[in-house]
Amino acid sequence: MEAAGGVLHVDLGAIVANWRLLVSRHPAGPVAGVVKGDGYGLGAGPVARALYDAGCRHFFVALLDEALAIRDRIPNAMLAVLGGPTPGSEPAYIAHRIVPVLGSLREIEAWAGTDLPAILHIDTGMSRLGLDAREMAVLLQDPARLSGIDVRYIMTHLVSAEAANDPLNEHQRQRFAEACAGLPPAPRSFANSSGIFLGEKFGSDLARPGAALFGINPTPGQPNPMRQVVRLMARVLAVRDIPAGASVGYNATWRATRPSRIATAGVGYADGWDRGLSGRGRAFFDGAPVPLVGRVSMDLTTFDVTDFPAVAPGGWLEFLGAHQSPDEVAALAGTNGYEILTSLALRLPRVYEAA
Ligand SMILES: *Cc1c(COP(=O)(O)O)cnc(C)c1O
Repeated sequence: MEAAGGVLHVDLGAIVANWRLLVSRHPAGPVAGVVKGDGYGLGAGPVARALYDAGCRHFFVALLDEALAIRDRIPNAMLAVLGGPTPGSEPAYIAHRIVPVLGSLREIEAWAGTDLPAILHIDTGMSRLGLDAREMAVLLQDPARLSGIDVRYIMTHLVSAEAANDPLNEHQRQRFAEACAGLPPAPRSFANSSGIFLGEKFGSDLARPGAALFGINPTPGQPNPMRQVVRLMARVLAVRDIPAGASVGYNATWRATRPSRIATAGVGYADGWDRGLSGRGRAFFDGAPVPLVGRVSMDLTTFDVTDFPAVAPGGWLEFLGAHQSPDEVAALAGTNGYEILTSLALRLPRVYEAA
């Protein structure tokens, strides 16, 4: 870790506290942990284990490989793969007790007659995965296609849950209720993080939040009810004085208008520090914002510390943390907090604070 240009601190206690808050906001049924994208970039194994120790018994990942990587850490929990089983992958699902999310008639056919657990995914507006309207019509005509499948849940996924006033939310809720009514009875799984905050009508037998566990605001435009989970600290590798008129970084996109002090920190876009922050991002030193100047480079980012005489080589700048959330960095970079977190590179050592 001494050699690293930055360190990512992950507060497992805050993740568990966030899960408990979501549990309290979803009285209709249990709350799963969605830990796809390697636990939204923070490490699916430690995150899943912390949630499991807190009592979480349902988990979702995107890929079979992601499920295999954490199966042993959450021994008695349901572990489901959102992406659906690819042909030939069935034996791995069976051997490791992993639950597929079936999203097409073809996938249903591959699972029929096995008596194995599965989740049925209905598309109510995302047009990505899940049975579309045409396939649903076929299935409603002939529900026997599901025989020999232990349907644990029927699920769908909200398109714009973070926009509480979007009529699509209610539209999807109705389409989902109609589709479920035509199928053999089974528990239902509906809300993602933001869906939990849409109110009781969006409750179901299993909520599936991911982002909110990791501190991303599920209610944009309103105060964030979740705790911050990550602290990304970058080491100051060098500090130099430059004269007025000197440029900083590739393509000389920033020029000093006064004699200036420039600090170079050891985190760049190869660590997931978005290059879109060039010339517009900031870091924090002792709680004060320090302007990012010039281009973000692969391994380095430069700051104007003329007004911060205490910044010195070997010191640290806060890139993410109490003063700057992933959502705030995302707003500056023109993306969302999900992408800021899942971009954090594995070369950043992760330090876990125990739950
Ligand atoms: C990613 C995902 C979730 C979790 O969504 P968040 O917005 O991160 O809470 C839930 N369900 C499905 C199908 C997903 O793909």
